[in-house]
Amino acid sequence: MSQILIAEDEGRIASFVAKGLKAAGYSPVHVSTGRDAIDLASTGDFDLLILDLGLPDIDGFDVLDVIRSSGVTMPVIILTARSSVTDTVAGLEGGADDYMAKPFRFEELLARVRLRLRSEAAPGGETNVISHADLSLDLRTRRLKVGASEVDLSAREFTLAETFLRNPGQVLSREQLLSRVWGYDFDPGSNVVDVYVRYLRKKVGAQRIETVRGMGYRLV
Ligand code: CA
Repeated sequence: MSQILIAEDEGRIASFVAKGLKAAGYSPVHVSTGRDAIDLASTGDFDLLILDLGLPDIDGFDVLDVIRSSGVTMPVIILTARSSVTDTVAGLEGGADDYMAKPFRFEELLARVRLRLRSEAAPGGETNVISHADLSLDLRTRRLKVGASEVDLSAREFTLAETFLRNPGQVLSREQLLSRVWGYDFDPGSNVVDVYVRYLRKKVGAQRIETVRGMGYRLV
């Protein structure tokens, strides 16, 4: 069972997140200060950290900086009321893996937690490569091989490819792809999924991703 550390000083939010994670089968531990977050993150007992930026003692960015400098590599999802582009960029450059602005829906956070835990799976080399037919995706180097040739993927294309490769032959709806790849609600009228499927088809071959009319897409 994955252990998730939640560093959040607002009790209401912390208990909402902890309850939801528990219901989803994770084992959450909550701390409300940056100091405790650093202490527990350094134990190596956790698989993922959900980090609030506005903590009472140490700013979340500094917490992130300290734990990354001390060699902690677990995925970190920043959770914060600050939603400016500057903060997002600073968070990601500072070593965060993802970023969520409050207010948020729990489902959105859960989708990101799942995504991050999956991409960090098996540091021992168990499942670093997922493949189907002659496609293989290396989760460490984030490179995709199509037959013998390697193709470069953008971050979104990578996650989209990963989602297809983890569910070969299965029809994935636009909504499923949106929540798994983008992790939050887009305008349901948005064509972002179709656009990225088109990008990915250019790289892997159009015939590999089939359109299932009225339902979604399928990796064949
Ligand atoms: Ca706070």
